[in-house]
Amino acid sequence: MDTNGWARRTIPTLFERSRSGANDGSHVPPADGPAPAALLGDDADLLADAPPPLPEVGEAEVVRHYTHLAARNMSVDANFYPLGSCTMKYNPRINEWAASRDGLAALHPLAPAATAQGALRLLHELETYLARIAGLDAVTLTPAAGAHGELTALKVITAYYHSRGEGRSKVLTPDSAHGTNPASCTVCGRLAVPIASRGDGRIDLDDLRAKLDDQTAALMITNPNTLGLFETDIADAAELVHAAGAQLYLDGANMNAILGITRPGDFGVDAMHFNLHKTFSTPHGGGGPGAGPVAVASHLEPFLPTPRVVHREGAYRLLWEAPQSIGPMRSFAGQFAVCVRAWCYIRALGGEGLRRASETAVLAANYLAAKLKTVLPLPHDERCMHEFVLTASRRGASDRGLAGRIAKRLLDYGFHAPTVYFPLIVEEALMIEPTETESLATLDAFVAAMREIVAALDEDPHALDDAPRARSVARVDETAAARQPVLRWRPRM
Ligand SMILES: *Cc1c(COP(=O)(O)O)cnc(C)c1O
Repeated sequence: MDTNGWARRTIPTLFERSRSGANDGSHVPPADGPAPAALLGDDADLLADAPPPLPEVGEAEVVRHYTHLAARNMSVDANFYPLGSCTMKYNPRINEWAASRDGLAALHPLAPAATAQGALRLLHELETYLARIAGLDAVTLTPAAGAHGELTALKVITAYYHSRGEGRSKVLTPDSAHGTNPASCTVCGRLAVPIASRGDGRIDLDDLRAKLDDQTAALMITNPNTLGLFETDIADAAELVHAAGAQLYLDGANMNAILGITRPGDFGVDAMHFNLHKTFSTPHGGGGPGAGPVAVASHLEPFLPTPRVVHREGAYRLLWEAPQSIGPMRSFAGQFAVCVRAWCYIRALGGEGLRRASETAVLAANYLAAKLKTVLPLPHDERCMHEFVLTASRRGASDRGLAGRIAKRLLDYGFHAPTVYFPLIVEEALMIEPTETESLATLDAFVAAMREIVAALDEDPHALDDAPRARSVARVDETAAARQPVLRWRPRM
C-alpha cells in the first residue's frame, strides 16, 4: 500500500498548501436558490461579514491529500489485523454497496411505516436470523454496540426481577472478562462480583457455587472465553445459575467461533448480545460504528426495549408501547446501516456459509497457535477456538513491557498489533485472532515476522526499543498522553 513512503513523510495540512486563487470555484455551478440574506429575512445580520478562511486547493490536491493521509493508517483493507477479541475481518464490499443504496441510506427514521416496509422487513428478518443463530426466542436490534447491549440486557434482567418483586443486585463475571462487563454492571446499578478462573483458563465452578445466592441476578460469561477456550463446564454452570434462580448472560463478542456449530440457547443461555460489527461484517475501529443486538429467552421478551419491530396483519411497523418494556435505549430503531450489512452478510453466506466461516476462523487460529508456540510460550496450550493468547514473559520481571514492544515492531513489518495486556489473567499477553479471511501466505508471513522479532530480541534485549521505526508516528509517550492530553489543534495559517 505505502509504496511511496507516505507512512513516514510529513504531510502538510490543507491550510499549509493553500494558495490564493487555486480554486476560484469556477467548476461549481452557481447556486440557483434564493440568496442567503433573503432566506434569513430579519436575521440577515447573522450572516458573516467575510467568507470562512477555508484553504484554497485544487480538487486533485484534495484527493491526494486524503489518499496520502489514509496511507499512513493501518487498516483492514491494507494490513493483517490480528486484534484479538475485536474480530477485524475483511468486510465484503457488496455489504457497503447495499447499505449505501438511496432507499436505505436516505430513509428518514420518522418515515411512516407504510413508506418503509422494505426496511422494516429487513430489520424483522434480521431479528429472526439472529434469534435462530442464538437458539433464543426474541431479539432487539436497538443497542448501539456490544457494551450497550450488555447494559440493555442487564436492564431487561433487572426489570424482570422487579416484576417478580425481587431485588437481586449482584452480577457474577469471570476474572477473564472484558472490561465492559463489570463496567456495564456498574452503570446498571448492579454489583459486579469476580469469579476466579481455574488453572486451565475456565471458570471455577467451586468459586461460582460459593458466590451464587438469592441476590444474584446473573452470571455474565464469555464463551468461547477471552483466552479463546470453550467453557467446557458451561452446562454445569448454567444448571447452578438456574438452580439459584439467576439468569445466564452470554457476552457474544466471540460468536465468530461458533456460528452454526452450537447455539447459546442450547447451552443454557437466557440472554446474550451480538457484536454485529465483529461477527457479521461492518468496518469498525476508532470507536464505531457498531450494533449490539440482544437476544433473549421468552420469559425476558416483554421487557425488551422499544421500539419493537412487529409484523401484524400483513404489514411491518414499529411498536412504541409495550407495558413491561424498559423503554427506548437510544433514538429510533437501531444502527440501521450496520443492520443492513449484517442482513446481507447472513443472506450471502447462508447457514452453511456461516458455519464454514467459523470453522475456517478456528482452523486459522489453531494453525497460527501451533506455529507461534515455538516462538513464544502459549500458556494454555490446547486446541483453541478463534483466538489464542501468547505471553511475552519468559523471564519474569525483566520482560515487563515486552508485549507492547513486540506489538510496536510488528507495525514496522506492516502488521497491525495484536491485542496486548488483555485478558488480565495472562502476563504480557498477546491476544491473536486471525479470522477466517486471511490467506495461508499472510498467516505464514506473520509467523515469519514474529520469529524475526523475537530472534532479534534474543540477540539484543534493546532491539525493540526504537519500535516502530517505519511509521508516521514513532513511540508515543503514553504516560504524557494520559496525563497531559492535547485536545485542541489549531491550524497554522
Ligand atoms: C468487543 C467486546 C466487547 C464490547 O463490545 P463493543 O461493541 O466494543 O462495545 C465486550 N466483550 C468482549 C469479549 C469483546 O470482545
